[in-house]
Amino acid sequence: MSTYGIDLGTTYSCIARLDANGNPEVIRNNEDDSNTVASVVFFENENNVVVGQAAKENIETDGDRVVQFVKRYIGKRDTRTYEFDGKTYTPVEISALILTRLKNLVESQGGTVEDVVITVPAYFGLEERSATKQAGELAGLNVLSLINEPTAAALSYCARQFQEDRTVLVYDLGGGTFDVTVIKMSMAQSADGNDAQKINVLATGGDDRLGGKDWDDRLFEFILNACCTENGLTPEEIEAETRQDIRSKVEEAKRKLSKKQSSKVRIDVNGSRTEITVTRKDFEQLTADKVAQTMSFVDSTLQKVPGVEIDTVLLVGGSTYMPMIKEAVEAKFPGKVQQHDPDQAVAKGAAIYASMLVIEEGAGSENQGGETSGEGEISGENKAEQLTAKFTVEDQTPRSFGPGVMDMKAAKPKYVLENFIKIGEKMPAIFTKTYYPMEDNQERVRLRAFENMSTDDALIPSVDEDGNPQATDPAHNVKLLGELIVNLPPGTSRNTPIKVTFKVDASGVHVEAVNTTTNEVFETFLRTESDIDVENSAVHQLRISSD
Ligand code: ADP
Ligand code: MG
Repeated sequence: MSTYGIDLGTTYSCIARLDANGNPEVIRNNEDDSNTVASVVFFENENNVVVGQAAKENIETDGDRVVQFVKRYIGKRDTRTYEFDGKTYTPVEISALILTRLKNLVESQGGTVEDVVITVPAYFGLEERSATKQAGELAGLNVLSLINEPTAAALSYCARQFQEDRTVLVYDLGGGTFDVTVIKMSMAQSADGNDAQKINVLATGGDDRLGGKDWDDRLFEFILNACCTENGLTPEEIEAETRQDIRSKVEEAKRKLSKKQSSKVRIDVNGSRTEITVTRKDFEQLTADKVAQTMSFVDSTLQKVPGVEIDTVLLVGGSTYMPMIKEAVEAKFPGKVQQHDPDQAVAKGAAIYASMLVIEEGAGSENQGGETSGEGEISGENKAEQLTAKFTVEDQTPRSFGPGVMDMKAAKPKYVLENFIKIGEKMPAIFTKTYYPMEDNQERVRLRAFENMSTDDALIPSVDEDGNPQATDPAHNVKLLGELIVNLPPGTSRNTPIKVTFKVDASGVHVEAVNTTTNEVFETFLRTESDIDVENSAVHQLRISSD
């Protein structure tokens, strides 16, 4: 079988397929003696690019030639690029190198990779999704579809035990991100009258800067300080090689502490051998606030779905191997916590989904935008019936979308973002509303389209000192998607209705404006910052109500 599921992670990636019995299995990374591949790329020289653990070992000594956490930048506006040996790499290209490494892993063991499903965080917007798909194509993969990571994790748990309607909280603590997702798995009738399992995302939350790395950093500081104390040195006197030595060993020490009560770390401190003992208790004290932080994100995510009762909590992500995590989650959800292969569950679920799509007729055809949508049956002999026989994943908008317009009826005129389409709505989603020019004889309108994570009807985006909306607004997770120029003929009255339509489907956001007097349609959407010239002012906006 040449169909695979890929978990393209922020810190570790993983590739899986179904074995001959229809059971998901991960392809081992023998070189690193691991089930996963570190999502780290080292540009050693123009002829040698290294991906995985070997790349990771250069972070402290050769950090400027190492790229990590690239998933944070994929598909983002004002995206950073990386330059090595006269070549420029985008986050998409770096991600393609990681995907190529996974593909090579399979090939080195005699397999071939053709069709794949790649996982993405549930909160990824459309641009991040299409960039991920592009990375797959660049790596020579046929990307059948993308699937949300928590949905994939839930699918791999389904493969273990078939379940009736349940509300599941997925607690995913990885290396660099923490994601909480509430999903509903329900039985429904599919078009052909058979039972189908439907998976819906109800709420997402978390922090894209909270993960195992924070635990590593605390342990790093602890060991560094201990090395200083033992050798009578200040942290500044510790050489880069010693720092790399500590850096290389903290993660291993952390993993050992998941199994044992204490771990010994031997460090060459500026040439002299020093042995440091860390106990699990020390480690738990050092990081207790981080555990508490994750639990407060669990609370805030649950607040988004008031009244929802959680039946099961799935622990996903390599960092949930730490006993302190399981204990904290158990304390909050006694008897409801499940944990199986947390660092592989996402890739395994993607492999299950990929196989379903391939078996499904016409699955090889293009699934534009790569959103999760599908229904299928798993072949494979005995196990197959125990797996989810059929299921659908409803397409939902990963963000809220709407235009920025002037509210002139407010005490002080203000620029507001009207959320036409809200996060979690079924796709395709369409919404139309009529607005009006600001002035008589206005020459044009610059209609700006935004995405955001809010479910409010209207938001006030941040504005700069000239009153222009900011391209990004972290407070509301507001991002400017682009703008539509609507040219108005001379003599246009300020009460001319301009009908604005937003349509969101798996391939993206479509914005359209119609001058209802002339019936002229405007749909050329300028997407990138460089396409949009900066001259802008309130006179080019639309207002919410007529006179
Ligand atoms: P990603 O963040 O890319 O989704 P993973 O879910 O594989 O990746 O999580 C990676 C994190 O899990 C890393 O910080 C790694 O150190 C940590 N981790 C993996 N195994 C263990 C373990 N046995 N004990 C503690 N932490 C672990
Ligand atoms: Mg992950």
